[in-house]
Amino acid sequence: MAMFNKANINKFQQLDTPFYYYDMEVLRQTLDACRDASAKHGFHVHYAMKANFNPKVLDMIQTFGFGADCVSGNEVRAAIDRGFDKGKIVFAGVGKSDKEINLALDTDIFCFNVESVQELHIINELAGAKGKKAKVAIRINPNVDAHTHHFITTGLDENKFGINIWQLPDVATALRECNNLQFLGIHFHIGSQITDLEVYKNLCTRINEMQDWFEDHGFPVKVLNAGGGLGVDYYNPDNDIADFESYFQVFKNFLNVKPGQEVHFELGRALVAQSASLISRVLYVKNGLKKNFLILDAGMTELIRPMLYQAYHQIENLSQESGVKGQEKTQDSEFKTQNLKYDVVGPICESTDCFQKDVDLPESFRGDLIAIRTAGAYGEVMASGYNLRDRVGSVYSE
Ligand SMILES: *Cc1c(COP(=O)(O)O)cnc(C)c1O
Repeated sequence: MAMFNKANINKFQQLDTPFYYYDMEVLRQTLDACRDASAKHGFHVHYAMKANFNPKVLDMIQTFGFGADCVSGNEVRAAIDRGFDKGKIVFAGVGKSDKEINLALDTDIFCFNVESVQELHIINELAGAKGKKAKVAIRINPNVDAHTHHFITTGLDENKFGINIWQLPDVATALRECNNLQFLGIHFHIGSQITDLEVYKNLCTRINEMQDWFEDHGFPVKVLNAGGGLGVDYYNPDNDIADFESYFQVFKNFLNVKPGQEVHFELGRALVAQSASLISRVLYVKNGLKKNFLILDAGMTELIRPMLYQAYHQIENLSQESGVKGQEKTQDSEFKTQNLKYDVVGPICESTDCFQKDVDLPESFRGDLIAIRTAGAYGEVMASGYNLRDRVGSVYSE
């Protein structure tokens, strides 16, 4: 499915840039593929809202029957507002405030994913004050290496997330003491943009050990929640649907699922990443002695992933590659323009405001439309107003 054609590029020419362009058909087909692949095994999927909480995106995801994985009180509220079933909301986060816990208690969500022994006691206290029983899963830090970028690894001993294995005896004590908690099961989330499925095999081994530990200590485990993290192919944005089949098959093969147990997942990136591109215009071209710079009207205020964790995004010059030219006179379209290397940068007053160095692009001109691909996850949601920038727009294919 190619995201761009002459018709939509012509339309982009009329619009103010920068904006996120959402291809709703790509989104629909991705959600469809995930639903089919998970339903086959009876697995439950919660969409990790922090990846993208654009209302139109949420509306479509909700229609597929997925639950929501929230990491703040406002996400819990937004999930409800967009029509997600409250009985399918899970709430994780290493620093849930009392206000957020109370909101989730009032909402009667499916489950708190609890990240410390202290948090267990606080949820117990707040639930007791309301005369409620809070359903909890223990987020365990399994010390499994996700083989992803160290900035987005979450499941190692050195990470702040979850409860370390050596603390489980304290968890058992707390669960016995806390009468306003109902123990549902165990939760894991070891990182993001994981492309090596072997990692998930290791995770399954750890989940099996951990559920045995809880059962041996008198806590029946009903829910096994493996979190999210499935990666997408940033180098081939038109290869747009993640391999959900193989991903779920790993869990089918290696997870020891007992009768009556439910298996849950929390996918974010893999559901939304390929459905959007950030569309920008070239403002200026600076040819230097050592470097050519393409200065765009989008920067780290619109898409911060490259600057925040050295993420790769494919960059395309839509005007030159499609023959729908920008404002300046360019070479005859019959004539194949030669490629140049550019550092593609934004307008923000920070030296790190660079999308990528040495990008091979057709010779580019002021006014050319530039697409930064695979921007649907952790893109628009991380936009900021730094430099008092305008809020980035969104445009939808339908
Ligand atoms: C961010 C997050 C996810 C989703 O991660 P992806 O890499 O986007 O799939 C799932 N669970 C928790 C607890 C998270 O914080």
